[in-house]
Amino acid sequence: MKTFCGRANPTTGEMEWVEEDENYDYHQEIARSRYADMLHDKDRNVKYYQGIRAAVSRVKERGEKAIVLDIGTGTGLLSMMAASAGADFCYAIEVFKPMANAAVKIVEKNGFRDKIKVINKHSTEVTVGPDGDMQCRANILVTELFDTELIGEGALPTYEHAHKYLVQEGCEAVPHRATVYVQLVESKRMWSWNKLFPVHVKAEDGEKMIVSPSEMENCPGVPSVCDIQLNQMPSSDFTILSDVVTMFSVDFGKPVRSASTYYRVQLEPVKSGKAQIVLSWWDIDMDPSGTINCTMAPYWVKSTSAFQWRDHWMQCVYFLPNEEPVLQGEKLYLTACRDEYSLWYNLQKARGEEENKADVRVESPVCRCQAHLLWNRPRFGELNDQNRTRQYIKSLMRVLKTDSVCLCISDGSLLPMLAHYLGAKQVFTLENSAVSCSVMEKFFKANHLEDKIKIIEARPESLTSPHLEDKKISVLVGEPFFTTSLLPWHNLYFWYARTAVTSHLTSNVTVLPQSASLHMMIVEFQDLWRIRSPCGTCEGFDVRTMDDMIKNSLNFRESKEAEPHPLWEYPCKSLSDPLEVLTFDFRKTVPQHCLSSEGSVNLLWKGKSHGAVLWMEYHLTADISISTGLMQISNEKNCEWNPHCKQAVYFFSSVIESETLSDLPSAVTYAINFNTKTGEIAMDFKL
Ligand code: SAH
Repeated sequence: MKTFCGRANPTTGEMEWVEEDENYDYHQEIARSRYADMLHDKDRNVKYYQGIRAAVSRVKERGEKAIVLDIGTGTGLLSMMAASAGADFCYAIEVFKPMANAAVKIVEKNGFRDKIKVINKHSTEVTVGPDGDMQCRANILVTELFDTELIGEGALPTYEHAHKYLVQEGCEAVPHRATVYVQLVESKRMWSWNKLFPVHVKAEDGEKMIVSPSEMENCPGVPSVCDIQLNQMPSSDFTILSDVVTMFSVDFGKPVRSASTYYRVQLEPVKSGKAQIVLSWWDIDMDPSGTINCTMAPYWVKSTSAFQWRDHWMQCVYFLPNEEPVLQGEKLYLTACRDEYSLWYNLQKARGEEENKADVRVESPVCRCQAHLLWNRPRFGELNDQNRTRQYIKSLMRVLKTDSVCLCISDGSLLPMLAHYLGAKQVFTLENSAVSCSVMEKFFKANHLEDKIKIIEARPESLTSPHLEDKKISVLVGEPFFTTSLLPWHNLYFWYARTAVTSHLTSNVTVLPQSASLHMMIVEFQDLWRIRSPCGTCEGFDVRTMDDMIKNSLNFRESKEAEPHPLWEYPCKSLSDPLEVLTFDFRKTVPQHCLSSEGSVNLLWKGKSHGAVLWMEYHLTADISISTGLMQISNEKNCEWNPHCKQAVYFFSSVIESETLSDLPSAVTYAINFNTKTGEIAMDFKL
């Protein structure tokens, strides 16, 4: 069956009706899912198996039958472990239908049909009794319902319900317990993801400073979790202010309460500094004694031998509502508040206990300044990147004249203010959404520019001469950046917008950036390859059904798609030189014909070709460019990526491995096509 879905095309900006197979969403979900990454997580799998074996033995030693409830069985892995460990029967619950179907097949293929019953339901719908889904309550509860924040996937309400209705009192639980750890740090880099720092502009008539509206300074931000590969954050990018502290634990073998609550710990800074960030991670004990422990602790906390790379569980960065100067040795209270699904943190200086209790702010953080709705964390980081801002300043100084009439097209950009300070006669900014209009208004007010820069809330195609006070635009600027872009080339929307406003431009208009280019490089990933690579067998269980299912979903569209990843978090080595594959001339309008590029790229260094990375570079002027991708390659061929942007990754369907240079295939051939009508880039690679 096909259905029509309406959506705005991120590149062309046009509303379009796309015919979508009804299965598209679930294929996307499987293709982009974390199942493969979990099955590759050896450390997790081994420890679950040990924990499950130990739990089954304990039940058997008591002379009881081992009845297992596995909530969120996925591939059926944990139930198969239990059955192999001697469990008498397993109820494997899975809410996602395609996965439940896969679990049935996998269970059968591995010969556990008589021991495992797969139930395609949400656990809260499962019934117990002679006619129910389960004959009786289980005495072993096995789950893996955790996300990086531990509780974000609904583990607490699921456990709460299971203890009330699905398992016996005093049941065994694998994992037995989870513990959340925190550490207080100061980090300009991470703080720059949440607050806008003052921007200094050296103009001809002296130094100017762009400041944030005061509402922004005191805004608690948004509650969504900030989860990152903290192991990629060099220790030089943050200062540790406290020891690692245990924030709270959840015992899964006892009734669990999911209702909102808070936890409070006392801590003494080991160093004076500015408390800004709470770093957090968790571990799980698979058994009551805590001997089988699986931890997400970052590199400076645990020994490197315990290291397991994984992407389905990372570490969390929490932003305190305000930065707080703290002194070494002073008494502080750190409070973690949580609702059913998320956590947030507060820091208080120690005072009377009663006073502190009254202080706990239980409601979750809500952005009051709207900037946190307009700019996500990487975008804050990008706007705070002084090197980047300097490039824009330098290039604006080159192109602006005293009679310049300037139009800016980018979402929530600082460029209009820069253009004003750098001498444009008049500045207009086109803002696409009510939120960006409102944030820009606040900024202009805070900087006394409300009469100097005019905000136009319109789409480019509906721009009229009265909007521009009947003036023609002599300088058109964009970063470009649009909140709707997911893949690097979606910001080519600037080109379409430029085309739509052509009648408002002077004949010798300057467009900044004057052009853009798409670049590509073949890489070997240190770890990221795991998320898209087949598993075959996992702890002795055949999970190829899952591999086939993922492969089928990846190939669901005629041409495979590239996916966005923030590569600063995922180390890789270059195997080829970077190559410019397409260029886009913003001085001209978008052409009718497609732009395409074919050729071959030489593999110069030995390694595994996992895929191609693609990114955009913007040529602000003839000699000033900005890269949203590659920044540098080290002598060892390690790549350094722009830390504020996601790059596009195209995973090859088969990996070529070369141990020596002589058995290197000389090249990878590619064909890349930019369809100017649809704004889509199709690509094909042959190894
Ligand atoms: N147990 C598997 C898969 C874990 S992923 C393994 O360890 O490899 C978690 C799975 O739980 C997902 O497939 C999700 O769809 C499912 N799930 C989450 N909450 C659930 C609930 N309350 N009831 C049923 N399934 C649930």
